[in-house]
Amino acid sequence: MGGFNYKDIYIEDGKRVLEVNILPEKYCNFDCIFCPIGRSQNKVDTQQPFDDMDNSLNELENMIEDNKAELVYINSKGEAFVNSRIDDIIALIKSKGLLVRLLSNGYLLGRDEYIRIANKCDEVIGEIKAISEGDFQKVQRPIEGYTLEEYISNMVSFNKQYKGKFILEVTIIKGYNDTEEAVNKIKDVINKLCPDKVIVERMDDEKFKKKLGVSDERFDEILMQLER
Ligand code: SF4
Repeated sequence: MGGFNYKDIYIEDGKRVLEVNILPEKYCNFDCIFCPIGRSQNKVDTQQPFDDMDNSLNELENMIEDNKAELVYINSKGEAFVNSRIDDIIALIKSKGLLVRLLSNGYLLGRDEYIRIANKCDEVIGEIKAISEGDFQKVQRPIEGYTLEEYISNMVSFNKQYKGKFILEVTIIKGYNDTEEAVNKIKDVINKLCPDKVIVERMDDEKFKKKLGVSDERFDEILMQLER
């Protein structure tokens, strides 16, 4: 257990980006049927202690220095907030004068303890996939008691007080959110959320592409309607 994983450093908008996974295995509050990481054995929304975190923090510091990173993107195997040392991870990155981008599915952005953490990041990414309550339960299989309504309102209330850059990632899934009606609902959510940027993607994981991927033509139409 323990240890972070890194992607090779890359340049984005002229900045050197270091992408890091801070979870030893999948820990998520959802269990999406199309999750590229696989099933959620650890379906949690509370913080967990992981082994070797002090060593992992030292390693992160070395990675930042060796790669001359300018932005650290926390993109984890699940929901990064549940690492009980996430505050220390962000503090370390900020102490080096770097920008921090945090990927979350967004549900936990409604809880004070996680709002406080996300507010320390320069960029936060939230997500939208299913757009009806039934589909949310069926395909994203969240922790019991979660609702789509609360999911969206958590992100809306977070972004109302957030001073950084809020990015919304929308994933189009054939049969779930690719109809005109669904796209209009997504548009309404975008209007409520007022993100600084919207990124629209489609299911492109080889395992799910055939069943859940929309055609190029339909995807282009949806992009025209949603991207800003
Ligand atoms: S929210 Fe992301 S990491 Fe979590 S189960 Fe869904 S696809 Fe996987």
